[in-house]
Amino acid sequence: MEYIILDLEFNGTYSKHRHKFVNEIIEFGAVKCDEQLNIIDTFSELVTPQISKKLNSHVSALTHITIDELKESNNTFSRVISHFRKFLGDGVLMTWSNSDILVLMENYQYFFGNDKLSFLKYYVNLQKYCERAIGYNDKARQLGLSTCAEMLGITFEDEHLHRAYTDAKLTALCFKALYDPELLKQYLYTCDDDFYRRVTFKNYNICDLKDPNVNRREMYFNCETCGRRALRRSKWRLKNRSFRANFRCLRCHKDFEGRITFKQCYDHVNITKKAVDLPPKEKPKKAKSASNDTQNNNE
Ligand SMILES: [Zn+2]
Repeated sequence: MEYIILDLEFNGTYSKHRHKFVNEIIEFGAVKCDEQLNIIDTFSELVTPQISKKLNSHVSALTHITIDELKESNNTFSRVISHFRKFLGDGVLMTWSNSDILVLMENYQYFFGNDKLSFLKYYVNLQKYCERAIGYNDKARQLGLSTCAEMLGITFEDEHLHRAYTDAKLTALCFKALYDPELLKQYLYTCDDDFYRRVTFKNYNICDLKDPNVNRREMYFNCETCGRRALRRSKWRLKNRSFRANFRCLRCHKDFEGRITFKQCYDHVNITKKAVDLPPKEKPKKAKSASNDTQNNNE
């Protein structure tokens, strides 16, 4: 099996024709690896934009590609795609994060009226794979390609980054350093209809308690001090896409607000819970004490 690691550069532009923004691809870069992760072939082609006649300043600053270069290449999207599908063959397509495959589908939709990449058989999101393989646990931020390379001690020159071929090659080096055929199986998708539903699915927080994917049995809180099940003392309310209610531990006499979110992902729901201290209410006359003010500020 061959692995084809693809990186795209694209230019966000407004299509007057379609009345919407399109991320128009301006460069394809890819490397082909054998099963030992040796680079056995390379691919690098510019695309002459058909939607926009100029490049965003940040795109030219980042890539150093000029519009003249793109015009001179005289290469349409459909021509590059036909070259690329020959290059890909039956191999596994790999990209760093799924944004490039989404942009490829978006361009496919724009130029061919269908967002399914008919030539695609297998796909791996190497960002997800590398995050797992390297033990990266930051849920708030995704692992960047250059950070991953630095963590692995792979040296690269900054000024060559953000060109499709260089980024694809750096991705391949990270993949090689973290190669584990057994782990890879978990990240390898066959590109059937289910795959397209999965890749285009946008996660969201469920905001309706009656949603069948809200598991009411999970809507409890234990006291953070003694671990006992706390008593809910209010109705559930919705704020900032989390369900909130007041709770009290009858043993510790501690009041807190329980906050719970149900994030709907493609094939599962992620539940997160957070307990936020509420000021004690036993002695309302002392409600303005310094300690209470501090707690309020912490919220
Ligand atoms: Zn307690």
